[in-house]
Amino acid sequence: MRITYACPACEATVSIDGVETMSSLVCPLCTAAVEVPRDAIGWSGPGGEPAEAGEGMPRLRRCLVCPSTELFTRKDFPQRLGVGIVVAGLAASCLTWAWRLLVPTFAILFGTALVDVVLYLLMPECLTCYRCAARYRGGGGPFGGFDLETHEKHRQQRIRLSERAAPGRPPASSVS
Ligand SMILES: [Zn+2]
Ligand SMILES: [Zn+2]
Repeated sequence: MRITYACPACEATVSIDGVETMSSLVCPLCTAAVEVPRDAIGWSGPGGEPAEAGEGMPRLRRCLVCPSTELFTRKDFPQRLGVGIVVAGLAASCLTWAWRLLVPTFAILFGTALVDVVLYLLMPECLTCYRCAARYRGGGGPFGGFDLETHEKHRQQRIRLSERAAPGRPPASSVS
């Protein structure tokens, strides 16, 4: 399982492979370590049954970076690629439309939509933490799709925390 997260100490984006075998995540830039909670990762066999540690597929029970147990599943689909295909299809169909080729125009539009759908279905799923936005690839978990209400709850919480921290915040230089 691969994790991509923002280092809590230096805010750099860190990607680490094989987190299921690690006891802590170490930032390569500032060497700040995030302790991986022991109960955070479970294992399941091909049919979803519980498996021995190190066998089958790692299943995330909670976020490894923050204390949140709320994550959501979504397709790991590069948005730029999806938009690029649609734009290319539109450009091509404008040409065929200008040449009054009706059938190719609709074939191109339908084809690009189909390519987008097929690519979307083939893309693996990834997990994202609502609270700290850490992303996990190559693992499973008991998490559903994106929920706006949960997202809003965490967003409000972040705002409250930053407001509370703002007045008496210690200068950044005092953090070693
Ligand atoms: Zn760091
Ligand atoms: Zn998190």
